[in-house]
Amino acid sequence: MAEYKILKTEGRAKRAEFKTVHGTVQTPVFMNVGTVAAIKGAVATTDLKEIGTQIELSNTYHLHVRPGDEVVKKLGGLHRFMNWDRPILTDSGGFQVFSLASLRKIKEEGVYFQSHIDGRKIFMGPEESMQIQSNLGSTIAMAFDECPSSVADRTYVQRSVERTTRWLARCKTEMARLNSLEDTVNPHQLLFGINQGAIYSDIRIEHAKQIREMDLDGYAVGGLAVGETHEEMYHILDEVVPYLPQEKPVYLMGVGTPLNILEAVDRGVDFFDCVYPSRNGRHGHVYTKDGKLNLFNAKYELDDRPIEEGCQCPACRHYSRAYIRHLLKAKEMLGMRLCVLHNLYFYNHLMEDIRDAIDEGRYQEFKKERVDRYTQGA
Ligand SMILES: [Zn+2]
Repeated sequence: MAEYKILKTEGRAKRAEFKTVHGTVQTPVFMNVGTVAAIKGAVATTDLKEIGTQIELSNTYHLHVRPGDEVVKKLGGLHRFMNWDRPILTDSGGFQVFSLASLRKIKEEGVYFQSHIDGRKIFMGPEESMQIQSNLGSTIAMAFDECPSSVADRTYVQRSVERTTRWLARCKTEMARLNSLEDTVNPHQLLFGINQGAIYSDIRIEHAKQIREMDLDGYAVGGLAVGETHEEMYHILDEVVPYLPQEKPVYLMGVGTPLNILEAVDRGVDFFDCVYPSRNGRHGHVYTKDGKLNLFNAKYELDDRPIEEGCQCPACRHYSRAYIRHLLKAKEMLGMRLCVLHNLYFYNHLMEDIRDAIDEGRYQEFKKERVDRYTQGA
């Protein structure tokens, strides 16, 4: 159902469009993170359209625990539930199970763990993850995988990756079954596989070769930005992305800073997601082309300029740094909300600038200029 079309390339950087049943995504793209079907910071889906959001990401584990994926299905699926008619990507739940849940036990069939909300015992395997994501009815479902720690030893990582490959085959079979059922929310749900292998590039390359044979709708590079250095991350992308199919979108999970995104686009990545812009915004840290500002800083007390001159976001069009600083200090929710809106707008428009630069064949020049400016201003 999906159609991925490369419009332009420059080196390994790709400018493409990805057609889905919920509309077309222009890539490279930053997915705005709405963990529990809400963007943290009191941002509604009606706001998202105003700040240039193309695609939203929600977390399977969180929605499974609360309100429950069966509830969401009964209400017509995630799109209807949160009033969002553009694409949604759901993660597999795996990452949260491995990072949030306590007392987990990994077996061939899946993972046994306790809910971080009420301690209730839960089992999740490839089939359960696909069933939950099918109930949510997202546009793109992610395969259930294990994300081994970046410091895990080689033998463990090797065994874990082999299991992730077997789990991927089970995900594909289960999704085909679910998509064929009569009462499926989104019978055109897409499946992205995930490359793992921690910092061992040979394990990752071998894994990439295996999963590219499975003809999935897209491929993610997972398990990065979890403690390794930026240089290690770029090195892995240099090594692994060439082994993923060129004719499919590539998603770098959980990344990252504006500089990480500029570097990863240059290495062939199409999709990104990260909690930084919303998390930083909630703490009064806002992005500009010249680096991040901390609006709690006393020097903004009488600063009546917008967060960034020329920015067309709802915060910068109407409010000053001094006013937003006051709201943050007074713990008014509006302060947090304006910072998050600005930061998401900043990320969405960074991606638009990236796409324009690739379209016009000047990405190298653009990247250097942005990296220099961001680094010097910070
Ligand atoms: Zn702004």
